[in-house]
Amino acid sequence: MPDSFGVAIVGAGAAGLATAIFAARRNPRLAIALLDGAKKPGAKILISGGGRCNVTNTVVAATDFHGGSRHVVRRILAAFTAEDAAAFFRDLGVPLHVEEDGKLFPDSGCARTVLDALLAEARRLDVRLLTGHRVTGLSRGFALETSAGALHAPHVVLATGGLSLPKSGSDGTGHRLAASLGHTIVPCTPALAPLVLDGDFHVALSGVAHPVELVVRADRDKPARVRGALLWTHFGVSGPAALDASRLWHRARIDGRAVAVHVSLLGAGTSTPPSGRCSTRRVRGRPRTCETRSRRSCRPGSPTP
Ligand SMILES: Cc1cc2nc3c(=O)[nH]c(=O)nc-3n(C[C@H](O)[C@H](O)[C@H](O)COP(=O)(O)OP(=O)(O)OC[C@H]3O[C@@H](n4cnc5c(N)ncnc54)[C@H](O)[C@@H]3O)c2cc1C
Repeated sequence: MPDSFGVAIVGAGAAGLATAIFAARRNPRLAIALLDGAKKPGAKILISGGGRCNVTNTVVAATDFHGGSRHVVRRILAAFTAEDAAAFFRDLGVPLHVEEDGKLFPDSGCARTVLDALLAEARRLDVRLLTGHRVTGLSRGFALETSAGALHAPHVVLATGGLSLPKSGSDGTGHRLAASLGHTIVPCTPALAPLVLDGDFHVALSGVAHPVELVVRADRDKPARVRGALLWTHFGVSGPAALDASRLWHRARIDGRAVAVHVSLLGAGTSTPPSGRCSTRRVRGRPRTCETRSRRSCRPGSPTP
């Protein structure tokens, strides 16, 4: 096997596979190595969307993305729209259809078809997929130390994923590799996680879902309003509204800022809870949420599949 490539892409998840495919289409003569520490790449694609892979949405806006420069996101979305994404997958033999809230899923109803199509296209384009190659060191030039030997490439793409689901292979090593080259790393924020409530008042409500408006008030931020369905569970609250609010709550906590989550149980569209039923007083020190009669503190929950 050659140990020298035109470009080395570290990580064969959705990002790495797409990067390899577009790079190879743009320059068919480029020798591309796609390295992954896992024996079988694409684990996260397989579990995405409950195993059905919610590939994209009919409407994708820069405001849907959190972290990083809005300007950069806007440019990326303009260069590759949601329609382009649907056409890309259709061309790979994976037609999509629209479901609730504009979500696009493969007609097969199976995330495996998405992963298989990406792997097949990478293979067709002669991308060299090197599984079982965990990159452990990276020095300028670039020299890559891997669990299966050294490689060289003048260009390297780090597509090693975030920190969710470390057992899938993305455990933050990529961030350390980037930092070792002098890049600044913005700490990751857990997101789309349910909120765990103290006490047990919510246990009896387990399984009840209804529309709410959540207001997240974090020190130094404008209050953020999230509307959608809230699902009470035995551990606290989940559902789209809680999942969407969790990122804001976690971000404030990571920064050491006081944060409170207030809920209006009168439903989406009711931006100001009636006084006496759900206080909007800011709570300092401990993160809290409240329901109609009492206030409860919440702490991070585990990611929702
Ligand atoms: C439960 C769940 C459900 C989701 N559902 C959806 C959904 O329906 N729709 C959607 O759009 N998104 C969904 N997401 C998010 C989506 O799965 C991720 O945003 C996406 O898969 C990330 O792709 P990635 O290529 O950036 O990273 P990853 O998929 O994490 O891939 C990174 C790869 O890099 C490899 N790697 C890491 N470090 C190294 C190293 N040092 N050397 C070599 N290889 C390395 C890993 O083994 C891994 O294969 C979901 C996520 C989760 C956790």
